[in-house]
Amino acid sequence: MGKSKGARIIVTLECICPNISKIKWCISLYYNKNRRNTPEKIKLKKYCPNCNCHSLFQEIK
Ligand SMILES: [Zn+2]
Repeated sequence: MGKSKGARIIVTLECICPNISKIKWCISLYYNKNRRNTPEKIKLKKYCPNCNCHSLFQEIK
């Protein structure tokens, strides 16, 4: 225990809404990602209640 905890980080995913203007931000998801296994940005397809449809969630900084 007490080893380096640098690999696992919490990132924020935000909905990419193609049809809705960005007046208000959509739901943000928090995703526990392993930086070693997934060095690139995460994209997940999830249901967004704000857009009322399935949409792509992308990692933001
Ligand atoms: Zn959305």
